[in-house]
Amino acid sequence: MDLGISGKVALVTGGSAGIGLAAAKSLAREGCNVCVSAREPEKLADAVVELQEFGTVVHAVLADVEDPSAARRVVEETRDVLGPVDILVANAGGPPPGRFDEVGLAEWDVAVQRNLLGTVRLAHAVLPEMRSRGWGRIITITSRSAREALDGLVLSNATRSAVAGVVRSLAREVGRDGVLVNNVLPGPIDTERLRRVAGDDEVLRRRAEEVPVGRIGRAEEVGDVVAFLAGERASFVNGVSLLVDGGESRVIA
Ligand code: NAD
Repeated sequence: MDLGISGKVALVTGGSAGIGLAAAKSLAREGCNVCVSAREPEKLADAVVELQEFGTVVHAVLADVEDPSAARRVVEETRDVLGPVDILVANAGGPPPGRFDEVGLAEWDVAVQRNLLGTVRLAHAVLPEMRSRGWGRIITITSRSAREALDGLVLSNATRSAVAGVVRSLAREVGRDGVLVNNVLPGPIDTERLRRVAGDDEVLRRRAEEVPVGRIGRAEEVGDVVAFLAGERASFVNGVSLLVDGGESRVIA
């Protein structure tokens, strides 16, 4: 299936590893020129090498989405090197786990900066040009916690559902300008983050048993959904929070 996005410019934050890198690869495979940004220079350099295999133009910008000036800088540098951003994949590391009485106000601050305002600032930075050019895609990467409160993950529950609210609002406000805004909610996906949180293979094996399809997901299974949402074949999909979780969520919605 040709997704019709060959030659588009995609910016993927948190793009040096895991789901972000997989999304960047899926978009590059479709012919997008891709800018990836993340915090760690070595991982970012490795990601560039992997992405160059697809033969499109690749650029990387070192940036931390928690830094209030990062979004504008990354978007401007992408424009200078590749052209205006057509597709934004707003992604970063998740907030730390914890129940309400276990997380301090400093951790709330970080989670809101990284997982809510980081996304808001990126959307602010890309939207004017997307609207004036009459085409754009914003895809946020959040979590199942955008739909249902997960135990012991109060920071995720709060910030992810807030992002889902932003996505809903934006989708209604900018759809007429040709900009579609959607949210992807991964379930358990085999990335460094999941392995770090799980601790060992036995925990991962038990975690896999909880998923209706009987396994943990692969990062490229999320990346391909991102590419589909970015593509012309998804041109009437706007404002959704799409679960990619092997059927784990019980919420009917
Ligand atoms: P990961 O840790 O494997 O990769 C995260 C990427 O984001 C890396 O490139 C890292 O360098 C970058 N990053 C982290 N913090 C950043 C920051 N402040 N600024 C810029 N870049 C930053 O994580 P992942 O598993 O790919 O998860 C990606 C997102 O998906 C996270 O928000 C995570 O909470 C969410 N998610 C993941 C899973 C899962 O099972 N893997 C499940 C649900 C939700």
